[in-house]
Amino acid sequence: MTKIKFEDLGEKKNWVSGRYEDSSSNKTISIISPYFDKEIATIPDSNYNDLDMAVQGARSIFPNWKKTNIRDRAEVMFRFKTILESNMDELAHLISLDNGKTIEDAKASINRGKEVVEFATSLPNILKGDSSQVADGITCTMTHEPLGVVAGITPFNFPAMVPLWMIPLAITSGNCFILKPSEQTPLSAFKIAEYLKEAGLPDGVFQVINGSKEAVEAICDHPDIKAVAFVGSSKVAKIVYSRTTSQGKRALCLGGAKNHMIVVPDADIDSTAKGLLASSMGSAGQRCMAASVAVGVADVDPIIDQLIEEAKKYVLGVDMGTIISRPAFDRIKGYIDNAENMGAKILVDGRNSTPPEGYDNGYWLGPTILDDVSPDWPCAKEEIFGPVLSIIRTDTIDKAMKIENNNIYGNAAAVFTTSGEVAKTISETASAGMVGINIGVPVPREPYSFGGWNESKYGHGDITGKSGVEFWTDLKKVTARWPESNEAWKKYF
Ligand code: NAD
Repeated sequence: MTKIKFEDLGEKKNWVSGRYEDSSSNKTISIISPYFDKEIATIPDSNYNDLDMAVQGARSIFPNWKKTNIRDRAEVMFRFKTILESNMDELAHLISLDNGKTIEDAKASINRGKEVVEFATSLPNILKGDSSQVADGITCTMTHEPLGVVAGITPFNFPAMVPLWMIPLAITSGNCFILKPSEQTPLSAFKIAEYLKEAGLPDGVFQVINGSKEAVEAICDHPDIKAVAFVGSSKVAKIVYSRTTSQGKRALCLGGAKNHMIVVPDADIDSTAKGLLASSMGSAGQRCMAASVAVGVADVDPIIDQLIEEAKKYVLGVDMGTIISRPAFDRIKGYIDNAENMGAKILVDGRNSTPPEGYDNGYWLGPTILDDVSPDWPCAKEEIFGPVLSIIRTDTIDKAMKIENNNIYGNAAAVFTTSGEVAKTISETASAGMVGINIGVPVPREPYSFGGWNESKYGHGDITGKSGVEFWTDLKKVTARWPESNEAWKKYF
């Protein structure tokens, strides 16, 4: 296991107009490391006035930033990418410290975020707009215009990657961006702010306001914030979406998930078992792309046997990190206890797993696999957000797809098979925005965009790729008639 060092980072502040600023709120939030069950920092629980200060700073720089040519804005992203790469160890350590990921997981998440930074360096090509002659002597030109001051609200589970889905596209498009990171995992946001400054981003284009519900409500309500992106649970996504859009503002709110993997008997045993396990247990199951239900069609016992073997090899601290908090640990364990009481067969039990040496107080829960689960049990229907895989048995693909389709969410789905026909049928009928064929975590690589369906998303479009750029911009169409008959000029032709 790569060691995580305990650190007391003391009192952290907000990042406003290029420097750390005190909050006017007298409330603070304690940041607890899930590796140590100990406070590692405090952040302000910011209020409307704190947000307003950041908005005013952003508003004053916006006209200059908007005027800065797109190549220069993209240049900041080129430098930011290099800075992220050279500070990978520092950032990964902070992610592990406040989130509980392993260092390797933390680095992988930074690399996924970096893909969006790379995509943002190509925005000079994407934001070039369009122009054509639409009638005799008349041209129409279309440009992407930034919106102004915009904001992002992010969850605990990917403290750097999810903010990096938003920041590069929003600011390279010419907006000024305010981030409200998760109050459980705020440490990466400070580093992102410092790295962007080092990359030459003008002060005020990126700001960080810490806090919880009050800060989020202030973002939804502030009249000078033009668009809000949110990633988190569906419950809060819906609240933020309604509150923001009811004020005439643009919002895109990504929510929770309950992803299904359909397994058929012709699937390759070894890679399917590994795929099922990586999808359900990676990041300790705390990711919106984790598949937490495997629907086995007919006899898939050889795959399940191999899955059990693989799961038993998992080492805590090496193959997966901790659960985010004590309440989350208790909630996840509650789902396992409940499934056991309802009659699930526990194939692998992660309760009472042995913590890695030196991390006895951490929130450790090992891989848990439940079999013979009924589709209407809480563990099969609700988002658990922990390392728990429920296996539902069925005998036809039609029935398997009904189970998948009936779930209220729609982030991702996957099929494991060697049959082209099965793969095609399932990818066509899955009610999900992202589908994997023999891939358990089907995160599209940039420039293909990230986003789910159904109650996994409120709003239109996706958060990354071209769709993300469209979210952060408005189209301006200029129609021009070019006068033809100016006698004074005719002699020059
Ligand atoms: P969360 O909804 O509790 O918190 C997300 C953000 O909302 C945080 O910044 C938090 O401060 C704020 N918030 C929380 N309660 C609020 C309230 N009542 N009013 C206003 N703001 C509030 O989510 P979380 O526990 O941090 O993250 C886990 C969730 O995020 C899971 O449901 C997971 O599926 C989801 N998630 C989704 C995606 C996706 O792309 N769809 C990606 C990552 C995580």
